[in-house]
Amino acid sequence: MFRQHALPRRYAFRWLLAATIMIIVPAAVAGVAPAVPAEAAARYVYLTFDDGPSTPYTSQIVSILATYQVRATFFETGANVTAHPSLTRLARRGGNSVQNHTWGHKNLTKVTWQSFKYQVRAADSAIRAQTGYTPRCLRPPFGAVNSKVYSRAASLGKTIVLWTLDPRDWSRPGTATITRRVLNNVKNGSIILLHDGGGNRSQTVAALPAILKTLKARGYRFRTRWC
Ligand SMILES: [Zn+2]
Repeated sequence: MFRQHALPRRYAFRWLLAATIMIIVPAAVAGVAPAVPAEAAARYVYLTFDDGPSTPYTSQIVSILATYQVRATFFETGANVTAHPSLTRLARRGGNSVQNHTWGHKNLTKVTWQSFKYQVRAADSAIRAQTGYTPRCLRPPFGAVNSKVYSRAASLGKTIVLWTLDPRDWSRPGTATITRRVLNNVKNGSIILLHDGGGNRSQTVAALPAILKTLKARGYRFRTRWC
């Protein structure tokens, strides 16, 4: 009896081994396979909007972001937050980040320490009143920075966030030009500067759907800054 079972047992072992390989190898491959999509998913950009909130552009932009299920960071001035508090609350909806762009859009390289503190803290208070949190990011107006601005910002607990891609939408070069400048220069990790305040931003609003649609088609994800 023992010898009669010897052969089938050996076959059984081989089948077990084969079955194990058939299960483990595809599982291992399946485990590796998601690495490619994960790498593609690692492509990301930061969309940022400065100088708002303002009417009607901020609400138009928030609506477009929601349509494309995209999040952005709004660097708002305290004065505009105070003028349009409901727009700041609207900007926050959908997971967008609202951060500090000073109280009155001052060039921070040209102000006293007293004024610097006021510009940052007054904007903090205005934003906190609408969002419930104190911004940790500071975008100095005009991108004007020097070593003193960096050290003063740090002493107030702020991280300075500038940008890496500026399509100069504020100069109103045309919707197609804004779209092209973004899409031709974007790369992984880009911080894209756009504006929802400070003037007529209808070209920026009009450019946004094509920008979002194309970046999504290229596999970009959209991150927000909280610093
Ligand atoms: Zn600005």
